[in-house]
Amino acid sequence: MKLPEITRGEHEIIQVKIAMSYPLRWVNSYLIGGSSGWSIVDPGPRSADNEQAWQHVLDTLGIPLPTIRSIVLTHHHPDHYGLSGWFQQQCGMPVWISERALAEANRSWSRGNTAASDLVHLFASHGMPEEITSRLPAHLDSFVPQVVPQPEVTFIQPGQMLEIGDRLWETIETSGHAAGHISFYQPEQRLMLCGDAVLPQISPNISLVPGSDPSPLESYLTGLRQLGQYEVDLAYPGHRRPFTHFRDRTEKLLLHHEERLQAMEDRIRDQPRTGYEVCSGLFNNELTLHQLRFAMSETLAHLVELERLGRAVRQEQGGIISFSAK
Ligand SMILES: [Zn+2]
Ligand SMILES: [Zn+2]
Repeated sequence: MKLPEITRGEHEIIQVKIAMSYPLRWVNSYLIGGSSGWSIVDPGPRSADNEQAWQHVLDTLGIPLPTIRSIVLTHHHPDHYGLSGWFQQQCGMPVWISERALAEANRSWSRGNTAASDLVHLFASHGMPEEITSRLPAHLDSFVPQVVPQPEVTFIQPGQMLEIGDRLWETIETSGHAAGHISFYQPEQRLMLCGDAVLPQISPNISLVPGSDPSPLESYLTGLRQLGQYEVDLAYPGHRRPFTHFRDRTEKLLLHHEERLQAMEDRIRDQPRTGYEVCSGLFNNELTLHQLRFAMSETLAHLVELERLGRAVRQEQGGIISFSAK
């Protein structure tokens, strides 16, 4: 096991790189200390290696487990939410998450959930061949060990000031990457813990997910405009490194999606195409199943946004949906 890199940054925020699968490679967990103990923001996906990694981190920093007074979650994805139940099982600390994000966690991870069959149905209706959709249920199942046990959670309300360390942070709920995603803003020091809402270098995945937000790209772009209003000196993201120029990054992401919308509209100008055909044309063919799932969900998020904007219409024939530019 590779021991995680620990970076003691400014503002008494410690960045811990917790391992996760390719292509992201690590998720940033943040340890934030205060007079009554520590908080961990996004502890990472559960695995035997990551449990050991955390034990090593806490030993190295001289932080006894009982001094961790809360786990704070930006969103429900396994790379962020995963170990929260494992921490809570040991010390019973509260796990903070938004109400909407918990609903997403339940839709994805609760016993007897229909997330896999719903996704197969959605992708099949948008033209994905059966030899691919048939592999999705086992693929989604493979994430379950990363998120057990489920934590007992306490809700964070949007707009609430939450104490993390000795500072108060404004909770800002924006959706699109994940419904119910929370970023945390510290106004005196102008810091933003932004989870996966805004990432440096990478464009956060925007997914159309069955049973969740029907207009994820619209939600995401609205959230970017909202986050771009804040005066931020340093942003602490869920992946890659802390970065400055937060507002500039929100503007670049807005532009990126405008370009993606245009590229998809161009793909359906000559003839109607299914979501799968648009996806195959825009993303390269060497994708793993995991990457293909994200590419397909991202394509559908853009196509339904074009439809909502009146720039595309859908047709359905024999149960298969295709889109054409208006
Ligand atoms: Zn995420
Ligand atoms: Zn993530």
